[in-house]
Amino acid sequence: MSAERVFVRFDLTGTEEMPRELRTRLKLFDTMRITAIGADGSEASRKLTPEGFRPATNDWLMFAELPPVAGPPAAVILQVNGARHAGLFSDATLTSAPADTPGSLRFELILAAICGLLCVPLVFNFAFYRVLREKFLLWHAVAVVFMLIQTLVSSGLINRFADLSLKELCLISATSFSAGIVAAAYFSADLIEPGKLDPVHRLLMRLLAPWIAVFTAFYLFADGPLRPYATPAYYAAFIPVLVLFVWIMAVAARRGSRAVRFQIAAWSPIMIVGVVRVGSALGLSDVPLELQLEQHVAIALEVLITSLSVADRFMIIRKQRDLARADARVFEARATLDPLTGLLNRGVIEERFDRLRNEGFRTMAVIDLDHFKQVNDTHGHATGDAVLRAVAIALAPDEDTIAVRLGGEEFLLLLRGSDAAERAERRRIAISTRTLAEIPGLDRLVTASMGLVEQPEAGRLKGDFEVLYAHCDKLLYEAKAAGRNRTMSERLQSFAISHRRATRAAA
Ligand code: GH3
Ligand code: MG
Ligand code: MG
Repeated sequence: MSAERVFVRFDLTGTEEMPRELRTRLKLFDTMRITAIGADGSEASRKLTPEGFRPATNDWLMFAELPPVAGPPAAVILQVNGARHAGLFSDATLTSAPADTPGSLRFELILAAICGLLCVPLVFNFAFYRVLREKFLLWHAVAVVFMLIQTLVSSGLINRFADLSLKELCLISATSFSAGIVAAAYFSADLIEPGKLDPVHRLLMRLLAPWIAVFTAFYLFADGPLRPYATPAYYAAFIPVLVLFVWIMAVAARRGSRAVRFQIAAWSPIMIVGVVRVGSALGLSDVPLELQLEQHVAIALEVLITSLSVADRFMIIRKQRDLARADARVFEARATLDPLTGLLNRGVIEERFDRLRNEGFRTMAVIDLDHFKQVNDTHGHATGDAVLRAVAIALAPDEDTIAVRLGGEEFLLLLRGSDAAERAERRRIAISTRTLAEIPGLDRLVTASMGLVEQPEAGRLKGDFEVLYAHCDKLLYEAKAAGRNRTMSERLQSFAISHRRATRAAA
């Protein structure tokens, strides 16, 4: 208010009794003198600071007791110094009604229900955040917390639980309102889909933080000659904020953003309340409209619709991620499997060898087909391929047996279990029977030679993939040299004592 001192007069002529209390908008001022004048000319007065007022528990209102005069009253005169807002006078009334009527209690319950409603999205946000580490979920939670504080304070409900001064109430109300808007702007900047806004739009949304912070601080702390400008400047600062929101939502909507449609629905009620409040605070309407209840409802609607939008975006992002993961799995499978036999390829096994060995795969066998070149030469490459596929069947990978095609007609087995060597040997022999069974025209017995190494118990392991493979390969070479169709195996011991065995298959 530009006027530093304002007088308000309530004419009470014709009234029987002096009302009990002055009731007005909760607004700050420096000092107030309330003078009650009796019909007989007697006078009583009280000088009050904001501390002399009692805040309501169901509205943004405050009460102060009137000074008593004997007999019927004539008038009450308020002299206010340093009022921060016109609502202090325009909404002032005199009342004798007790504060706790059943109606007002019912209203408090409704307010409490609205506050309870605002807590629900918080739970969702944190649950969603654990699945999807998206920042907008956190910004939504922050915005909801501030809107909850704003509703608790501006509804007066907080005064049921806390003993706050008018100054503290004003401070918390203005900061929570501003911080709620800022958090909502950050939320929108992160929520709206990539490509639906330019980086400059998102930057402008984030620049609202310093802008609003400056005006909020000015509103709360401006003093001396600047003080009359504090309230109009604060409300005027929200005009560009509103314009920016509308513009950015229009941009995103034009580009087909799905998230912004929810945002428009969510923000419209608050924006309408905001426009009316800013308009009336700047003197564009006769009565300073506070629209307190409308604001609570608008905030509750905003939070609810935005929560739907968060859930919607959550589902879409999760679906996209699931698809991407499925794609990645397909690519991985393609990259890890040998296309001809469907067995794993060498790269995968080398990469995972240490882990597999820790899981108990301590027996390695390298298998090479005998005289395979002759199969190709006499039956053709296609039959050679069919033989390789039949070998893959014979090697029969299972949860304790990993089968790998190293390349050409060379295969590798990794096995675990106490009978690993026997199972490897059975598979080598199965190559002959399986190829005969799978390829009807094949008139020769396909045999294979194998070099096998068993490693000691975990804790005394030595050698990486290359070392063990070289060891197997050496044994395989020995098996070939000894006449093929056989296995040369070795059990590695902790002190480099090896037990060698040569097995001649009874083929
Ligand atoms: P040895 O008993 O000494 O192992 O004799 P071998 O004939 O099996 O060995 P060599 O290394 O001389 O020949 C391997 C042959 O395997 C040569 C190549 O034609 C054949 N080969 C390699 N990869 C494939 C394949 O994918 N398909 C077919 N059909 N043949 C292949
Ligand atoms: Mg061979
Ligand atoms: Mg070979």
